[in-house]
Amino acid sequence: LSERLGGVFDRLTKQGALSEEDVKTALREVRVALLEADVSLPVARDFVKKVQEQATGQAVTKSVTPGQQVVKIVHDALIDVLRGEGDPGALKVDNPPAPILMVGLQGSGKTTTTGKLAKRLKEKDGKRVLLASLDVYRPAAMDQLAVLGQQIGVDTLPIVPGQKPVDIAKRAKQQAVMGGYDVYMLDTAGRLQIDEVLMQEVEDVRDVVSPRETLLVVDGLTGQVAVEVAEEFDNKIGISGVVLTRMDGDGRGGAALSMRAVTGKPIKYVGLGEKMDALETFEPDRIAGRILGMGDIVALVEKAQETIEAEQAERMMKRFTKGQFNMNDLKMQLEQMLKMGGMEGIMGMMPGMGKMAKQVQDAGFDDSIIKRQIALIQSMTKKERANPALLQASRKKRIAAGAGQQVSDLNKLLKMHRQMADMMKKMGKMGKGKMMKQAMK
Ligand code: GDP
Ligand code: MG
Repeated sequence: LSERLGGVFDRLTKQGALSEEDVKTALREVRVALLEADVSLPVARDFVKKVQEQATGQAVTKSVTPGQQVVKIVHDALIDVLRGEGDPGALKVDNPPAPILMVGLQGSGKTTTTGKLAKRLKEKDGKRVLLASLDVYRPAAMDQLAVLGQQIGVDTLPIVPGQKPVDIAKRAKQQAVMGGYDVYMLDTAGRLQIDEVLMQEVEDVRDVVSPRETLLVVDGLTGQVAVEVAEEFDNKIGISGVVLTRMDGDGRGGAALSMRAVTGKPIKYVGLGEKMDALETFEPDRIAGRILGMGDIVALVEKAQETIEAEQAERMMKRFTKGQFNMNDLKMQLEQMLKMGGMEGIMGMMPGMGKMAKQVQDAGFDDSIIKRQIALIQSMTKKERANPALLQASRKKRIAAGAGQQVSDLNKLLKMHRQMADMMKKMGKMGKGKMMKQAMK
């Protein structure tokens, strides 16, 4: 809530704007940090360029340096890129039995992740899961999955020696239907590198089962390679999401950013160890902090922004509660309303004002009216805005004409201003700004 409400006071927190030079200097550091985190060069370059455009001219919060401010902007931009659409942990597993196809290079962590996900589906979502290994090349691979299945209490398809992957997939599908399973997961074989035979095999399996989810498992420590692998698999097979493994290692996880930027596919989970519960949904802010490696700076800027917002909010509230609510304040409120989706958006958040907001809304208050009201205020002189009591008939006529509106429109605006000013004053008497603090929580 403090974030949304804080926006109201945005204009007051401006202490100066980021110059192009500030931004360039800070972004040089950021670029190095990204490359060190194994973000691929073109992705880092594009990203920095985009942020440069965004950041130049932005406000610098008091008590932080321009460089620190840029780092915060970069951090937020990283989160934006990393965040896919929808709920990261959600898999499409309706319409039982839902097939999930697990693909990736050998050693990326497919089998382990298959087990982890099965456990999660079973325990968190209450699904009945069937596992099947299609890895016919390494005899131990099928046993590995069977052992994992036993360990987590999930059924595995009985092993029939000599069957081809496509036939195993067919059998798994059959078994899933007959056994009344909600989900069946196919753990495919990997290769050390992408090759045609592997791709063809996975394509054939895909065509047999029409997976609801095709999850690419990639080693988060492999950086560049991970991105190439993701592109290749997505082009040939079509993936619905990515699982990044070995994020418990000391890599900085730049692959996550490259992967998102290049494939546009959501990263759904991260693997954080060898154990069966070492799987978490992908949290963009955590990874962003890690990629940038400047978490301290981000925290510092956030703290400074919070402090200032709270200070400004309090100062402003103090003025309001003394009845000092002028036309500039009203204009700011109106502009915020436009941004925040109308009257109810903003006033609904202030205790005691929700009802009034509703009244105004019911009276047919919409964006075009707000815009017309802002135009009226813009048509006032500085003095008039600071002191609306000055507004006598002749001034009213001039202002209304200046905004291309009627005096009656202006009167309505003035009435609203008075009501709001009264309301603020009353709030002050009731709680001396305590309420505001509460609303900021
Ligand atoms: P597959 O060939 O793709 O099936 O890979 P495996 O699932 O057999 O995993 C290969 C190795 O990586 C195993 O020793 C796993 O325990 C290990 N592994 C898998 N995921 C993770 C992870 O998230 N973190 C760590 N540290 N090790 C992992
Ligand atoms: Mg395997």
